[in-house]
Amino acid sequence: MDEQEFDTLAVRAGTARSQFNEHSEALYLTSSFVFDSAAQAAARFAGAETGNVYARFTNPTVTAMQERLAALEGAESCVATASGMSAILSLAMATLQAGDHVLASSGLFGATQQLFGGILSKFGIETTFVPATDIDAYRAALRPRTRLCFIETPSNPLTEVIDIAAVAEVARSAGALLAVDNCFCTPALQRPLELGADVVVHSATKYLDGQGRVLGGAVAGPKAVVDEVFKFLRTAGPSISPFNAWVILKGLETLRIRMEAQSASALGLARWLEAQPGVRRVFYPGLESHPQHALAMRQQKSGGAIVSFEVDGGRERAWQVVDATRMISITANLGDTKTTITHPATTTHGRISAEARAAAGIEEGLLRIAVGLEALEDIQADLARGLGG
Ligand SMILES: *Cc1c(COP(=O)(O)O)cnc(C)c1O
Repeated sequence: MDEQEFDTLAVRAGTARSQFNEHSEALYLTSSFVFDSAAQAAARFAGAETGNVYARFTNPTVTAMQERLAALEGAESCVATASGMSAILSLAMATLQAGDHVLASSGLFGATQQLFGGILSKFGIETTFVPATDIDAYRAALRPRTRLCFIETPSNPLTEVIDIAAVAEVARSAGALLAVDNCFCTPALQRPLELGADVVVHSATKYLDGQGRVLGGAVAGPKAVVDEVFKFLRTAGPSISPFNAWVILKGLETLRIRMEAQSASALGLARWLEAQPGVRRVFYPGLESHPQHALAMRQQKSGGAIVSFEVDGGRERAWQVVDATRMISITANLGDTKTTITHPATTTHGRISAEARAAAGIEEGLLRIAVGLEALEDIQADLARGLGG
């Protein structure tokens, strides 16, 4: 898919006009739909007639968002969910059963690790976490019952880049599905399905909305898989609100230009940080110094909008940088037009043991910036205050 095609789909895919011929996509705030007759109600319930029944199943605004995101990911089908976590849960519930095995990359989003390692494990689904960038480790950890391979690239907060095509090959050799959490890059910068992944999952809460307004999630991939996820969803109920779907649908229209602008600023910030005294190391896939820079440039259109860096002086100095900011938001969220800063060791990764944190490379001096749309000069000035002190 070229850029022009992407841009057009982002604005035009998934538009369905009602009898009022509205230009902007309509928001259908309704929990249920009425039928013309008892016979039609029966036919809709039996699935003999297509059409909406109840918003736990479908809603036209949600359908439009699903179609638009499917088009952008190059997926046959897509189903939206209430949040990113419910997308991952729904995928797991649809594709796994007791006795099955999951292969997951280390450094996954914290709640995803907890879902696989701490919740699904109670139901007889075992997960092995392998070092994210070690392809041989994935191959070695395969078991006869490995059904799902789950990765996130670039990882958070250290921006490790996983070779999607290589992991897809390993998964395929075992007859397992490869699911990629594409939250950080979005289809504007990385399309996992084109690289051989089977399924993409999203926290639409982040860049797809892009302005920090709503929670949402999605699973995109082959119709056969998405249909199974939908069956779980319509029964179990982590369905997206039509309002949230509408916000995300409109967010997709500006996704590429936001991602490109925020990534360009992130690269500028990463280069600037590399030159600052007291900054020990900068983690950003767009930097030549990044260990998987070449892979990142093959697999992604740019480095993305997340930059992490480690300062000398551990927690005290890192907190000093955070507390000296006046503009940047101190929050663990990311994917917003407003730049955010977080200290992973005491927030997102605060509940894991110090040893596990050290093993994962989350040092006390590490800070993560999710670069927004403010002027780069203002972001730099806000950080310079703490770094210079
Ligand atoms: C935020 C996030 C999630 C979870 O999404 P929610 O919408 O908060 O449920 C999953 N994966 C990644 C990479 C995330 O950043």
